[in-house]
Amino acid sequence: MTAAEIRQSFLDFFKEKQHTIVPSASLLPSAEAQKTLMFTNAGMNPFVPYFLGVETPPYTPPRATDTQKCIRAGGKHNDLEDVGYDTYHHTFFEMLGNWSFGDYFKKEAIEWAWELVVERWGFPANRLYATVYAPKEGDPGEFDQDAWDIWAELFRKAGCDPAVQIVNGNVKDNFWMMGETGPCGPCSELHVDLTPNGDSAGKLVNNDSDLCIEIWNLVFIQYNAEADGTFRDLPAKHIDTGMGFERACSIIKGTNGFTDFSKKPSNYATDVFTPLFSKLEELSGKTYVNIYPEPGADRTAFSEEMKTAIAFRVIADHLRTLSFSIADGIMPGNSGRNYVLRRILRRAVRYGRQLGFSGDKPFFSALVSTLVDQMGEVFPELKARQEVVRQTLETEEASFNQTLDRGLKRFEDAVVEVSNGTLSGDIAFELYDTFGFPIDLTELVCAERGLKVDMPRFEELMEQQRERARAAQKSTVVRALDLTTEAVTEFGGFESDELEATVLEIHPQ
Ligand code: ATP
Ligand code: MG
Ligand code: MG
Ligand code: MG
Repeated sequence: MTAAEIRQSFLDFFKEKQHTIVPSASLLPSAEAQKTLMFTNAGMNPFVPYFLGVETPPYTPPRATDTQKCIRAGGKHNDLEDVGYDTYHHTFFEMLGNWSFGDYFKKEAIEWAWELVVERWGFPANRLYATVYAPKEGDPGEFDQDAWDIWAELFRKAGCDPAVQIVNGNVKDNFWMMGETGPCGPCSELHVDLTPNGDSAGKLVNNDSDLCIEIWNLVFIQYNAEADGTFRDLPAKHIDTGMGFERACSIIKGTNGFTDFSKKPSNYATDVFTPLFSKLEELSGKTYVNIYPEPGADRTAFSEEMKTAIAFRVIADHLRTLSFSIADGIMPGNSGRNYVLRRILRRAVRYGRQLGFSGDKPFFSALVSTLVDQMGEVFPELKARQEVVRQTLETEEASFNQTLDRGLKRFEDAVVEVSNGTLSGDIAFELYDTFGFPIDLTELVCAERGLKVDMPRFEELMEQQRERARAAQKSTVVRALDLTTEAVTEFGGFESDELEATVLEIHPQ
């Protein structure tokens, strides 16, 4: 199966089970969700009003299935640091899901998950581990005996020992919450044993091992987490599931349809990523090699080949994040989610240096057409906004290229002076202020040298700069508004960067 066929086969399976196939919602959360979310980060985000009972789902029966665009590059779920290094975390990914809004519950959700994964796709049952929620004292809810019993019967029928294949999970992994507040509940997850002999006996589950990957989370939504920390029973119970599309592709393809477990599967070794790598190879003249560092390996000792492999992956990942965001109308900018995008873009441009790209030889926007060819049919918004995406990336890359090399030179000079393993906050601030280095980029180039950044000093300088901006702004506003005293008092109180940015726009200096 190609990646596209795997996606379709998920959707078709649930269509057979009377689910309505719905298109992905935007990466920009709804106005209500924006209060707590930068980007859509899970399939359930757009369905929250149905879970809360404040809106009625328009599907008969009330079931849906979809693939949801997700970004996890900040906030509660931040996978940015792992990208490029491991085989299975992206900043942008697709979450396949099936949904019951007050309709079916645990039994169907678990049995259908099994039917799809084991019976239709052919995952070997003895390589699957199902986790169930087992709270400790003080945690919400109770041991999920119902889920345990349903899984146990399925495993027994397949000739497997439930005591081995079912693993207890803690509140962190098996009690799903979107954020601090919102619909939530216990969950059961499917993890796949990718060890050569399939004999890890559940020991690698939730252990950050790329030899045992979590593919599917089945959430049994029955509570709403309130702002005061309590859990309220929801009026109706719901099912919310999320399967990592790229991970499903990785395992099916990486094991050649479950026949060969001798090599470690990777999301990047699938046709989700290979077209982008081919294009990057063509543009750079370098070759992508599918190798990964050991977890926790010394970054300062990476071979050129390893650095190049990481750069390929980071660039392809970041391109997807940027392109899909811009297609949904979220542009790179100076504050909030817009700055998150700019940071990610600048990171990608810096990784481009590893592949030999530069101001004279830009690359990022040249990848857009490849992505559109590949994904434009499933996500028509990408095709429709292709030119805006391309132009935005071109402009952003060109603009950062104007200062990046001088910034890197400044950094190299400063590194020579470092004696205590820490880059001074003053240099980090200069890189930010003069050369446009987002702080995480400075931290990244430092980490590659085995250095840290003096963050308290950096923060102090940032705060001083904000103070100066505030002071300058106040006087401008007072002049602009002259004698309107009420408005002057109002303008005195802005605290957040975002509001300041708005004021600056209204009253440019
Ligand atoms: P992990 O423990 O691997 O970080 P998670 O528990 O944070 O995953 P969930 O919030 O349960 O993930 O999301 C549901 C599914 O989405 C996961 O089971 C996984 O298959 C997929 N997924 C989560 N994060 C990513 C990511 N950064 N890149 C690709 N797929 C992801
Ligand atoms: Mg995670
Ligand atoms: Mg997890
Ligand atoms: Mg999970």
